[in-house]
Amino acid sequence: MIIDGKALAEKTKRNIRLQVKKMPFQPGLGVILVGDDSASKVYVNAKEKACQEAGFYSKKIILSKNIKQRELLQEIENLNKDKKIHGILVQFPLPPELNEKQVIEAIDPRKDVDCFHPYNFGQLTILNKLENLEKTLAPCTAKGVIKLIEETGQKIEGKKAVVIGRSNLVGKPTALLLLLKNATVMICHSRTVNLTQELKTADILIAAVGRPKLITGEMIKKGAIVIDVGINRITEGLVGDVDFDKAEKKAGFITPVPGGAGPMTIACLLENTILLAEKFGKK
Ligand code: NAP
Repeated sequence: MIIDGKALAEKTKRNIRLQVKKMPFQPGLGVILVGDDSASKVYVNAKEKACQEAGFYSKKIILSKNIKQRELLQEIENLNKDKKIHGILVQFPLPPELNEKQVIEAIDPRKDVDCFHPYNFGQLTILNKLENLEKTLAPCTAKGVIKLIEETGQKIEGKKAVVIGRSNLVGKPTALLLLLKNATVMICHSRTVNLTQELKTADILIAAVGRPKLITGEMIKKGAIVIDVGINRITEGLVGDVDFDKAEKKAGFITPVPGGAGPMTIACLLENTILLAEKFGKK
């Protein structure tokens, strides 16, 4: 069965719109884009559109790729002080001259909508269990992955989950959320010796690599839940990390690319903004 991330994201966004209507003030998201990377521009525009549709206040700040670190930090500080803004997102990757770690740490943890700040990520790491995902601040893509798995109606608890990719943005937080959901988790990466052998043991397989069609049908256990986070632009268009046509025949449930993890990341971004607005925003 194909897990329809687009439909699930639309349903989530409809609920968010209703929630916004009941709020005593408008939740606000500030997005900073540095440089002119075309993929980043597409993501930022999609986030801005989703904010407008949900009834959020949104502010998009576009900065030159030649901006100095201290100027970027000043822009973040302005958003930290802006009372209309409850969530701040800096679109990554930044140009290599800029220090991403310093940028993450400059965001007020109360406005850290991506949950990348060491304070918030640390808080997540020391949780013993995940009782209410909606009300938990967690990185948006990882949160979206869990919602996609839950959409299948299958239990996560006790399942063997294998995450391919160990980035701070996707792989690590996804593995952490799966662990908090009581899966038995393995993380694979570029130094994993026998990827096929490891992946074949997965009841739940999460691909977050950035290599087109790296995961072939033979790597997938029959009936597994396969969530493809990868977004790769090749001549035939957008493809994931999973060879969808082959994998679909083996998997029990699978997400497509596009229309799987991508839309859910945006829906979870809106959800996190409301969470921060309700917790720290002015009434
Ligand atoms: P990243 O920082 O480049 O990390 C890629 C990970 O994959 C690394 O841990 C790397 O291992 C591992 N890897 C690379 N080649 C491998 C191989 N041949 N076998 C096994 N592991 C391998 O990328 P990212 O930021 O996590 O993003 C991953 C993908 O998700 C990208 O396609 C990105 O565009 C996409 N993405 C999608 C969304 C969404 O909303 N759908 C959001 C964010 C990212 P090492 O650590 O050993 O180098």
